[in-house]
Amino acid sequence: MTPPADAAPAADPRLPGRGGRAHAASRRRTPRALRIGRHGLFIDDAIEQAYLQAKLRSVQGGVRRFGLGGGLLFLLGGFIDWSALGESWRFAPLLVVRLLVFGVGAYLALVVGGAGQRRRSTLRDAVLAFELAAGLGAAAVTLAYQPDLAYRVVTVLALTLALYAYLPVFGAANLWVLPALGLLYLAEIATMFRATPQFLGFVAVLLALAHAAGWRIATRNARVRRQRWLMQRRLRHEVRVRRRAEKNLRHALESCPVPLLVNRAVDGQALLLNRAARVLFGSARHEVPGGQPPVAEFFRRAEELEAVLASLRERGMVRHMDVQLRTVDGAPVDVMLSARCLRYEGQAAVLSSLVEITARKQHERELRRLSATDPLTGLRNRRGFFNKADALLRREGVRPMALLLMDVDHFKSINDTHGHAVGDLVLQMLAGRVKAVLRRPDVLARVGGEEFVVLAPLADLDDACALAERIRDAVARHAMRINGLRLDVTLSIGVSLVQPGRMAIDNALSRADAAMYRAKHAGRNRVEHRVEHSIEHRGAPR
Ligand code: GH3
Ligand code: MG
Ligand code: MG
Repeated sequence: MTPPADAAPAADPRLPGRGGRAHAASRRRTPRALRIGRHGLFIDDAIEQAYLQAKLRSVQGGVRRFGLGGGLLFLLGGFIDWSALGESWRFAPLLVVRLLVFGVGAYLALVVGGAGQRRRSTLRDAVLAFELAAGLGAAAVTLAYQPDLAYRVVTVLALTLALYAYLPVFGAANLWVLPALGLLYLAEIATMFRATPQFLGFVAVLLALAHAAGWRIATRNARVRRQRWLMQRRLRHEVRVRRRAEKNLRHALESCPVPLLVNRAVDGQALLLNRAARVLFGSARHEVPGGQPPVAEFFRRAEELEAVLASLRERGMVRHMDVQLRTVDGAPVDVMLSARCLRYEGQAAVLSSLVEITARKQHERELRRLSATDPLTGLRNRRGFFNKADALLRREGVRPMALLLMDVDHFKSINDTHGHAVGDLVLQMLAGRVKAVLRRPDVLARVGGEEFVVLAPLADLDDACALAERIRDAVARHAMRINGLRLDVTLSIGVSLVQPGRMAIDNALSRADAAMYRAKHAGRNRVEHRVEHSIEHRGAPR
């Protein structure tokens, strides 16, 4: 028969209202071998032996205290004997009894309790021997002190409790022998001293109470010691497991191929750099030379550090941010940084992974450079020109600049007559000639097929026209010699001034373009610029 799907689990010990079962289950969870029996000893003999060996020093100390302390105490009783029975013949045999008990105690303490690893049975038997000796000694003392029975009974009761309190329990026999001796003692009083039944009953009750209490004390001591040992064992095991886990984690962290860095949040102090990070920063040693510097010192650009800190403040993390850091030698290194706030060694910290992207960044820079460069002349292309012009405008603000737009005259016919390759060579030579005229801050670019542009920091239109004239002349003055050919190349140049405002470059370019077309219409090989309501012509017609 199949139970209904929603049937409660039959015996879940965690369910409320089943205290008895839960208790039984928790007891069941303790392995049988580790359970402690009613005598305060481990049920499993091997575990008991393991406990004794593990706690050998403290067990030996207990045995030594028991034998030596008990024996010595019994011997010291001889002084009382001497003052009370010094004249009597009973003194001498009693002293012999005391010496014998002391001898057994000393044997237990020095020979059995102190030497090497002992088997449990040896210890149990030795303790048993001392218990017997002490019990029989007490009986002998009682015998010797016949008239003072009540006083001796009290002494025996105290001795019984003291024996139990310090008794190292190694087996049930150690516990059972004392009640047996108590019965013997009772028999002794009953037979030797003709005590009244009332007194006998009274002593019997007192002895029973003392043994019950003593039994409880001895078994509880043994149990508590073993429970403490179990807990220590569990803790040690837990510490071992945790240490191993931590070691594994540290090893993984250290061997991780991605550079990892942990730094303190409060002051950026670097707390940990794994091997890959040390290699990245150029430090072969564990420590970065000069101590662990604040992480801010690794950043080359303040604005990137600011962006990282802002992201950590706002989101508690950074995801794939490209930043440039510096090695310990100051060399730049591009990394993709991801970071997260955490607690490390009890303090607020940041864990960062740094994936090196220097090669990728170089590649990107190269691609950017190529996309802004004209492959034929090596000059900036149209995109490169606008990038540069924008950057200049951003940096220089409204600083005056002149713009020259140049177009090769009748270039199509060069191509048609001598071929495209010759046309290309003409463009290359032309770029060289124009460049030779320019100064360092001037920007030259090829913005179209055979159209070039110059951006020069000139405030005056006359200066700009003079520069354009020098360029025109440098090109037109000498014919170009290419593959045995002699080619006369000329330029038509339109000039304008860059005026402040939005679209400044576009506006200047279209005005220069208009001026350049005027130069074409006016016969080519000319420089033109546009002034309000009038057109000026410069340059020598060919
Ligand atoms: P104009 O004096 O009016 O400027 O006459 P043009 O022949 O120069 O006329 P246009 O500007 O229309 O012709 C430009 C020619 O430049 C057309 C095109 O075949 C050529 N050209 C454009 N780019 C290149 C290039 O990279 N290499 C070569 N060899 N020729 C190019
Ligand atoms: Mg053209
Ligand atoms: Mg042309």
